[in-house]
Parts: sequence; C-alpha cells; structure tokens
Amino acid sequence: SIEFLNWDWKTNNEDEIIAKIDEAEKKAKTIEETRKSLPIYAFRNDLLSAIEEYQVLVIVGETGSGKTTQLPQYLHEAGYTKGDKKVGCTQPRRVAAMSVAARVAEEMGVKLGYEVGYSIRFEDCTSDKTIIKYMTDGMLLREFLTEPLLDGYNCLIIDEAHERTLHTDVLFGLVKDIARSRPDLKLLISSATLDAQKFADYFDGAPIFSIPGKPYPVQVCYTKAPEANYIGAAVTTVMQLHITQQKGDILVFLTGQEEIETVQESLQQACRALGSKIRELIICPIYANLPPDMQGKIFEPTPPGARKVILATNIAETSITIDGVSFVIDPGFVKQNFYSAKTRMESLEVVTCSRASATQRAGRAGRVGPGHCFRLYTKHAYGNEMEENNVPEIKRTNLGHVVLLLKSIGIRDVMSFEFMDPPHEQALISALKDLSDLGALNNEGELTKLGRRMAEYPLDPVLSKTIITSEKYHCSEEVISIISMLNVQSSVFYRPKDKKFHADKARQNFTKSGGDHFTLLNVWEQWVDTNYSLSWCHENFIVYRSMTRARDVRDQLVGLCERTEVKLESNPNPADIVPIQKSFVAGFFMNTAKLLPFGDSYQKIKFGEAGRRIHIHPSSSLFQTPPKWVLYYELVATQKDYMRQVMEIQPQWLTEAAPACYTKAELDKLDSKKKMPKNHQVTGSPSLSVI
Ligand code: ADP
Ligand code: MG
Repeated sequence: SIEFLNWDWKTNNEDEIIAKIDEAEKKAKTIEETRKSLPIYAFRNDLLSAIEEYQVLVIVGETGSGKTTQLPQYLHEAGYTKGDKKVGCTQPRRVAAMSVAARVAEEMGVKLGYEVGYSIRFEDCTSDKTIIKYMTDGMLLREFLTEPLLDGYNCLIIDEAHERTLHTDVLFGLVKDIARSRPDLKLLISSATLDAQKFADYFDGAPIFSIPGKPYPVQVCYTKAPEANYIGAAVTTVMQLHITQQKGDILVFLTGQEEIETVQESLQQACRALGSKIRELIICPIYANLPPDMQGKIFEPTPPGARKVILATNIAETSITIDGVSFVIDPGFVKQNFYSAKTRMESLEVVTCSRASATQRAGRAGRVGPGHCFRLYTKHAYGNEMEENNVPEIKRTNLGHVVLLLKSIGIRDVMSFEFMDPPHEQALISALKDLSDLGALNNEGELTKLGRRMAEYPLDPVLSKTIITSEKYHCSEEVISIISMLNVQSSVFYRPKDKKFHADKARQNFTKSGGDHFTLLNVWEQWVDTNYSLSWCHENFIVYRSMTRARDVRDQLVGLCERTEVKLESNPNPADIVPIQKSFVAGFFMNTAKLLPFGDSYQKIKFGEAGRRIHIHPSSSLFQTPPKWVLYYELVATQKDYMRQVMEIQPQWLTEAAPACYTKAELDKLDSKKKMPKNHQVTGSPSLSVI
C-alpha cells in the first residue's frame, strides 16, 4: 500500500473540476472550432491593425493563448506572405519548433515541410514553398550569415522571448538593428510573462499588446518540511491523485530524461502492483531527445475513464501547451548549463528553479478548470531560497561561438554590441582570447580566413577548428565520425544492471590504442560495416538510438564539409593514427594534461586553472595505463574532476598546433620535473608551480 503525503489540501472545488473536464470532453472540437476558441482569436483584428501601425510590437499572453500557433497564420491570412515572402517564428527549443510546425501544418491542412516547415540544427524540414517557417533561434542567427538583411522575411516573430536564451538575446540585438534599415520588416516579440516592459524598453519603447487570458484559479500547496527525495514524493503524489481523484490529467516537472525514466518506471511498478483496482494511467514522457514519433503522444486526448500523466522537463513550462491538465506537481528544480570562465568547464547542473518558473508551472493546472499545484518544497523555501527570475543564459555560458558569429555577421566591436543584458566583460574578453588562440581572430581582433570558415559551423569553435584542420592531415572522414560519436558519447554503451559483466566485456572488445576517441571510431566503423544493423547493436550492448543520432549528426557534418569545401578524405594509412591525433590537438590544445609523477593524477597544463589536479575517468580505456600527455573532450566534476574521452598526445604537437600558447622550453621544463628526486616534491613549492 502507498503511504500518502500529508497535503494540506481542501478540495472544495472537486465538482467544479469534474464539470469543467466533462464539458471539455463533450466539446470534441474541429480544428476550426479549436482555433476560434483560443483567447487570441478575439483580438485577431486588433492585433493585425496594431501590427500594421507599428513596426515593432511586444505581445504578451498566457501560455496556451495561441501566440505561437496563431500569429504566423494571422499574418499569412492578412497577406504578409505575398510574393513568396516568409513569416519566421523562432523557438528556443527544438522540440517546440518541430511540434508547433506539425500542429500548424495540420491546422492549415498542408503537408509538413511544404508551406509550413521547420528548421532546427542538423535538420531542415522546409522547401522553397515554405512561407511559415518555425526555427530554433540559433538557426535564424545562422541565416544572418548568408542573408544579413533577412530579405526573405516580411515578418519575424521572436517567440518565447522571456526564455532569454543566448541565441534569442543575440537575435534581439540583430533584429533591432535590421529593423532600422528595413522599415518594411515587421517585428513581433512575444512573451508568456509580464516582464514585457523590459522588451518594450529595449526596443525603443515599442508598444505592448496584452492578450487577456482568463486562466482558472490554481490552488497551491506546499510540503510542510523540505522533501529529501523529491522523485519519491512526486511518484507518491501522482499515485495519491490517481487513486483519490476522479478526473484530471497530471503534469510533473522533472529535470531530464534520466529522472523522467526513473519516475516512469516507478509509476509502472506502482500501477502493476495495484492491478485492476485502479483505472488506466497513461504515462507520457516529453524531453528534448525524445524521438519525434513519440512526441505526438502527449497531445492525444485522454480516453474516457483513463488518466494521463505527463512527465516533462521545463519544456512544458511555456514552450508547449498540453490541454487537459488539472494537477501540476512541481519539485522546484531545473537542469541548467553553467560555464565557468575560470575552469573553462561547462556543466549541466540541477538547481532550484526561480519563482517566475514556479508561477508558470502552477499556471499549467488552470487551463481546463480550477486546478491544483503541489509544490514539493516549503513555503519558506519558495519565499527565501528561490531567485525571483531566471538568470539569462548569456550570463552563464561560453561565448566563443557567439562571438565568432557576431564577428562573421560584421560586428567588429563585440564589446559594445547592444546586448539586453550585457555579458560579463571578463567572459567576453576570455571568449575573444580563446578565438585568437585558436587562430580565428588576428591580432587586430578581426576574423581570419580560418575564423570565417569556423563560423560556418554551428559548433563549438574547438570542434570546427578540429574539422578544418583534419583537411590538412587528410583524415576528415575519421574526424567527423569521431565528433559525431562524441556528440552522443555519454549514451553509446548500454550497461543494464543485470548484465554488467557481459556489457563490460563487449565494451572492452571495442577498445583501441590511442584512447577513447579511437574506441568510439571503432564502434562507428564496425556499425557502418554491418550496414547500420540493429541486432548488431543489441549483441554488442550499443545503444542503437545513439548510433542513429550520431549518423544524423554525421550526415549534417558531411553536408557542412561540402558547403565549406573541406575535402572528405579517409586516413590513407589506418594503422597510423597520428594525423587524427594532430587534428584533435589543433582544436583541443586547451584541454590538455600531463601525468604527475608517482601516481595516476594529472595536472592541467595551461589555460584556466593551470596545475589543477584532474583524473582520467574510470570508464576510459586509458584509465589502467595512463599516458604521459593527454587531451580530453570534457572535464566533469563529480567527487573528483574527471576527464572524459581521453586521447594520448605528444607534447611537440602542442607547440606545432599552438605556437603562440606553448613553447618547447616550458613543456620540456614540465617534462623534466619527473626526474626530480622525491624529497623535492613539496606541494606548493615554487619548483612545482606550473606554467
Ligand atoms: P501559446 O504560444 O500562446 O502558448 P500555442 O499557440 O502554443 O499557445 O497553443 C495554443 C493551443 O494550440 C494549445 O492550447 C493547444 O490546444 C493547441 N496546440 C498547440 N500545439 C499543439 C500540438 N502539437 N498538438 C495539438 N494541439 C496543439
Ligand atoms: Mg508559445
């Protein structure tokens, strides 16, 4: 039996909830009726007049009011797509761009990819017929490269502006600028939250158009004491609601795929245990890497008698609207990317969400009727431990790629670009320095020929440099294979709990000398030899879905190489891996470490915290036999600082690849320390200090 949580919850509106859900169920609406029932519909004409009158308009409306799906259609219906001009609508999230485009294609009765399409990184689902184009903000940013005035567009909607992703923030600066030179361009900034004044101010006092929504009231409950195990508490609360409440779907906010799968498993178990005593519980996960064919499931109406529970990342906060939710469970966490300029390390961390997020999440319960939100934290935590608002991504990221993009769009003085929230000066300076170390900028801070080529890649500058260098060493085929595999590196090898031994053995069989990069390459090449076989993956404990993803990424990289005229060549002598190693050194010379004498720990050679103690991750093939000099793909901080995906290198390659950063003398000096007698090795002594 399940021990229920002690929610302080007065269900005085249960009848009302049931009535509202019944009402919604009865109205099996046609698409046309659904469109007309959206809050935005009543303001269609007012909106179109405002758009005609003003060049820039800030549009604010509750999630689900119809901004994303309806605005582009209204613009199209009003003639803004005449003469093959496009309406573009940006989305911070890939899944949202795909799902919304699919929905709008359906509403317009056209095939997705024709009149209505989407464009996301590594996938272009548009054609020359496309007039309504949804795309990630990053993709629009890239379009500035080829079309600085975006002449193909009559209207641009910068949607989900409140999300304040890095790309959206950069877009603000760019569209503000082109709006000045293109008075014919209509610009809509759309946001789900009320801090729209900031957008209006930024766009020189643009008017704000509010779509009044009337969501139903949502009763919020808190836990009385902090919840140590929020996953368990979430599962219990779902079951509690499922058992005690007659109707209403449930939406749970989790931080990522792993958590979602854990909760999914626990719920399935709980349901099995209760068997036919309870009604059917339909579990729908939604997260960024969920295959597209499974994304549609969350939008299917719940069959009568059953209940749907949606396990979502914060994509369901404002990006996509799921109808029918009456109960929201909010553990109060979110997974975010953090970059530290000091350690040069980017990490995904689970952190407390903001009060603004908590408010949005609760709001998702009030769309069909009065709702409830169960916060798995205390009222005190809400008031005292949460930030008021989310920190814009630009304040917590590596700016390298963005600076490169800005430079290639012709913005010479990146330091005075009109950011809505300017990044820390130090972060900008550090990004500029990285790019000049990589050879993308010259001494004057101008884009070099190499830099211009690097900007063509929607990749971290470190990766684009590696690819471009592989041309020189005639091994671009292998290098892009490895990079595609690095893209999925954390989920290539499958290790089920009950077959750990076999899985580890299978993994060992793939090991190649030189390091993990070559093991990944080996997996890739063997898979290609089996003609992309699914059963081969099963037999070898390889995750098929990761492999197909790597293949997609690789196909795109091939396309990019063709576009940027990087010749695709296979390493002429497969036994000689030096060309591949040298290509990686050209990009990753900042991620290098030297084995310390008397042990298995390394010190970071240069960049960031030089001398910092780091370790080879136990899953690496080089863990048992640590080479003297290595480079790594990423540094992951857990109990120790671990290098993941490690490759053996030679120090002279560093001086070859980055003569401005490494001198032979300093590397020799570092090397010679090994020969020092042990009693001289005093931690912190000047002789041990590193360059
Ligand atoms: P907003 O952008 O204002 O948050 P949307 O335009 O995204 O609102 O959503 C409006 C409505 O469109 C939703 O309430 C939902 O009914 C419907 N909708 C949106 N996306 C889909 C989808 N993929 N499948 C089915 N219905 C959808
Ligand atoms: Mg929207």
